[in-house]
Amino acid sequence: MLKSYYEILNVSSNATKTEIKNQYRKLVRMYHPDVNSSIEAEKIFKEINKAADILLDDEKRKNYDKYRLNDKIFYNKNSSNYTFSDLFKTKKEKSKVSQPKNGDDIVVNVNIDFNEAFLGTYRVVNIAHSCICPKCLGHKFVNGSKCSYCNGLGEKIFKKKITVKIPPSVKNKTKLRIKNEGQLGLNGGKNGNLYVIVNVEKNDELKIEDGIVKYTAQISPYMAILGGNITVPTLWGEATIKIPPLTKANQSFKLIDVGILNEKTNKKGDEIVKILIQIPSKITDEEIELYKKLSELNQKNNAKYC
Ligand SMILES: [Zn+2]
Repeated sequence: MLKSYYEILNVSSNATKTEIKNQYRKLVRMYHPDVNSSIEAEKIFKEINKAADILLDDEKRKNYDKYRLNDKIFYNKNSSNYTFSDLFKTKKEKSKVSQPKNGDDIVVNVNIDFNEAFLGTYRVVNIAHSCICPKCLGHKFVNGSKCSYCNGLGEKIFKKKITVKIPPSVKNKTKLRIKNEGQLGLNGGKNGNLYVIVNVEKNDELKIEDGIVKYTAQISPYMAILGGNITVPTLWGEATIKIPPLTKANQSFKLIDVGILNEKTNKKGDEIVKILIQIPSKITDEEIELYKKLSELNQKNNAKYC
């Protein structure tokens, strides 16, 4: 009579993974070629390994149960080897045994700041290549025991650091391609590529035009007339500008040594701050009265000079 994998391991079809594992170990101790050299034992040993390989893998067990319940299981009657084993291989495993398969691409994101985007920079990217375990060749077991090299995973992860050069004047969301640094190809397939997506951190306030940093500052009419200090952003932090009395709209101020760093001379460039005068959207009655007085004074003074 044909046996199911559950029957081969002598466990019930709803046995837990631990129960299956324990039972499998027990059978291995009985039929391992080291302790039992009969041809029959060798055959059984192969069968129990096959059964354990399917039943101890959640995905394969699920697939197996599905087929088993649908009566789609068939055995090669002339041998104890199953002929449908491929049906229960995971997608990953199927690819291991078949045609050359190109490795998948790896995509990573890196963040750079505004200044780096202008000058160009480097980032070290950590990537993990997975490949079939060279010891168990992806079977997870070696001589009936869990592969110690890959810890029964069937694959090994190799970590690698790659230094990526980000060119100057890079735009946000630029996708850089580093050839052959993606996942490894299988059976002679090509390696995938590594794609590095460069995210340039937003800086809505500062603009760079012709290598000069520009900023527009808004000041109140009172400050434009009376003068005062304002704080402005630069590529290197904040800076303070002294606004002189009677500053006009669109007047510009130059901040030196806070602009873009010239790597050759190791000197920083300039930042130009343009002044806009912001009229308040609401004023109080008291302020209106004061403005009226100012207006009258202004008219008087003008009259004086006429
Ligand atoms: Zn292994």
